[in-house]
Amino acid sequence: MSEKYCGGPNFEEYVVCPYDKVHRIMPTRLAYHLTRCAKNFPSSKMVRCPFNTTHLHSVTNMQLHVIDCPDRAALERYKLPDSMPPAEPRPCEFNIACSEDWDAEPPAPTYDPKKYCETELVIRNPQGAPPAARRQFRERERRRFLESQRF
Ligand SMILES: [Zn+2]
Ligand SMILES: [Zn+2]
Repeated sequence: MSEKYCGGPNFEEYVVCPYDKVHRIMPTRLAYHLTRCAKNFPSSKMVRCPFNTTHLHSVTNMQLHVIDCPDRAALERYKLPDSMPPAEPRPCEFNIACSEDWDAEPPAPTYDPKKYCETELVIRNPQGAPPAARRQFRERERRRFLESQRF
């Protein structure tokens, strides 16, 4: 863009100040210059590149810059921690869903076993135990009666 604007032997190595195109700054001193130059342009709407603080562009240009920023790949690792916070609400939503399920589930499992045991006992008692118990009781009573008669 404006880099070839001022063709000079060393100008290509200089960086055009985003605040004032007249400023040509050595890349090594760019950060220092921007910090100082920003104070001279407090009303500037320049925004800092998230990948390099020396990359200053307007919001519109920054949206295009961040796509092609050369420092983006180098700082790609730092994007991973940044991508974590947005993912945190999801586990919270799952926890909420789980808590809702926990509130709904406990009554059922604790209630069903009781029902199951009760029905099982109810079924067992009339079918099995009482007749057998009656038979055993009758046999015991017969033996006691016979034994009592013998003695
Ligand atoms: Zn400047
Ligand atoms: Zn950048």
